Amino acid sequence: MASPSHRFGHEGVEGLRTGRYNLGISSSCIVYRLGATVIDTGPPNQWPVVRRFLRERNVEQVLVTHHHEDHGGNGARLQRELEATVFFPPSGVTLARDGFPLRAYQRVIWGTPKRFVPQAMPDEMSVGGGFRLRAVHAPGHSPDMTCYLEVERGWLFTGDLYITSKPLFFRADENMDEQIESLRRVVDLEFETVFCAHRGVVTEGQRAIRAKLDYLISLRDEIRHLHSEGRSVAEITKTLLGREKLTSLITLYHFSKRNLVRACLPVHAT
Ligand SMILES: [Zn+2]
Repeated sequence: MASPSHRFGHEGVEGLRTGRYNLGISSSCIVYRLGATVIDTGPPNQWPVVRRFLRERNVEQVLVTHHHEDHGGNGARLQRELEATVFFPPSGVTLARDGFPLRAYQRVIWGTPKRFVPQAMPDEMSVGGGFRLRAVHAPGHSPDMTCYLEVERGWLFTGDLYITSKPLFFRADENMDEQIESLRRVVDLEFETVFCAHRGVVTEGQRAIRAKLDYLISLRDEIRHLHSEGRSVAEITKTLLGREKLTSLITLYHFSKRNLVRACLPVHAT
């Protein structure tokens, strides 16, 4: 299967999309470069492609949006081979140091990160070229999920906060209420362009984030309403999101529609 790697640019920000399989936007991931600053590191099994891209110029610092293997997975190599300073969100530092469980599909699609000790990202950082990046903690997709805001330019690097305005699938460990609160906070920030790690550049970024917020709030309401009428998770999933897809089977339902429904209900709902 062809590798989906390719590069692109927008307003001086360079992007490299990389991934082993062409299975849709979630299976590939984008490394962004802003002068000597890199945001996210790509999947471990794509290191040769990422390294070639990053060796084109000096890398001084790397800001990782969250610990997941397709985002922080090459942090150790960037630190050791390219001698860059790698920053993780503070709550992701121990996960990079101690490791975290990966399912078989994650190891196959993205590979296994090497453990290392990153620096904790401060609240704000000058990164050269007149740019300042502010960390905006936005948990829900993961506890350490953090966006980076360039206030002057109105850029928001969103990691996995956005991806799509209408998600149908959730990881088993995503938190819906936290995600909605994070979107609510982020949508009030001053920005226009979203640099999403999977979707790419979203020029009407504020509107896109607002659309996702509205969609998740009304979907959560509908799911809770149906559940209060005695409908099961399976029935609600089929009614509101349709049948599970191949992705759900490949991931043994770790990434599935039913997880999105469960994330809206009390912990032990069936
Ligand atoms: Zn993620």
